[in-house]
Amino acid sequence: MIVISGARLIDGTGAGPREGMDVFVNDGEIVEVSPAGARPVPNGAERIDAGGMTLMPGLIDCHDHLSSFGYGLADKWGLTEPSSLRHMRIASVLEQTLHTGYTTVRDAGGLDAGFRTAVDEGLIPGPSLQVVLDVITPTGGIGDHASPSGYHHPAPPNPSLPDGVADGPDEMRHRVRQMALAGANAIKTGTTGGASSRPGLGPKDTNMRPEELAALVDEAHSIGKRVMCHALGGPGLRVAIEAGVDSIEHGTHLDEDPDLVHMMVEKNIFYIPTFSVYIYHRAQGTPHGRARSEELTQHHIRSLELAMEAGVKIVAGTDAGGWVHCNNAQEISCLAAAGMPPADALAAATSRAAECLGIEGSVGTVEKGKRADLVLVDQDPLADVSTLEKGASVRLVMKNGAVAVNRL
Ligand SMILES: [Zn+2]
Repeated sequence: MIVISGARLIDGTGAGPREGMDVFVNDGEIVEVSPAGARPVPNGAERIDAGGMTLMPGLIDCHDHLSSFGYGLADKWGLTEPSSLRHMRIASVLEQTLHTGYTTVRDAGGLDAGFRTAVDEGLIPGPSLQVVLDVITPTGGIGDHASPSGYHHPAPPNPSLPDGVADGPDEMRHRVRQMALAGANAIKTGTTGGASSRPGLGPKDTNMRPEELAALVDEAHSIGKRVMCHALGGPGLRVAIEAGVDSIEHGTHLDEDPDLVHMMVEKNIFYIPTFSVYIYHRAQGTPHGRARSEELTQHHIRSLELAMEAGVKIVAGTDAGGWVHCNNAQEISCLAAAGMPPADALAAATSRAAECLGIEGSVGTVEKGKRADLVLVDQDPLADVSTLEKGASVRLVMKNGAVAVNRL
């Protein structure tokens, strides 16, 4: 047994902090949360003095790309370096991400299921993973890794990642089944372009028909998989919400169709704005990526405000893997900067994130019966959420009841 003793506790529910709490961990699970000293520390238990520090649930990112190191075609085709080197690079990212306090990450495309198994088996340290494998879209959609002239790589760069291109409702169903077969936890699609998509498929352009999306969503739900949908604005955003996807990724132009946020509440659709990635698209993107990101900035903030007012469940996800790794907490700072109260921004990366991933029964809060995924920090994240960035204030990370990092 391990007892983390005397911490200030932010339990992840969005409730106010509680001073001087003891958290008892046994066999990977939180078995007791009580005021310091109320319960004796059992003989043989390890006591960790957490006085003056803040204990929180392990952090969760609902949208990253852990195997992504660029947006270029050569990178998408796996041509820039040997796959062995790429795998070692990803393993290093997984370890460092865990060390910054992130105990669960959902990869939104590019990571194969072997990394999830490797972490679960303890072969490599890392956050618990959910994977979608590849993004299912029609020819020319965001999941089509064709060259600008329409050429496809003759051999799939990674046979563990089924190709995502599908045209027509039947092919959509086929691709969903293929992703599930190859180990996907959830299904990813995209009904619009984005900042980095090809010229001609911008943030408000769509190339997916409603009947295609309906088939994809129906097939995914019939086998118990959630659908995360990249959708920025215009008719593709509306189609996604009407079709009942489980989360809207980006949703930068929700403000232009304000009825949509109410539909999201009715249908219990989560909103993952991914502010982080647009910082990089604005500063370092392609010329058209920079222009698109500039244009959407104010809409994005207004969309968050409307979603908060309506009561949409807003969740933290960076989407920044193509630019930067191991600063997932940057998104918490972005949410706070855009007007979300700090306690709520922390819930977006803990309890609400767990709910978005369907794992709220086991993680996301510090409560008796939950898995012991915990982070101890030496700054007050409610006073300044940015102290979590890059794990700067992290002193201890526990995953599944085992200490993964100890800087005490
Ligand atoms: Zn993404």
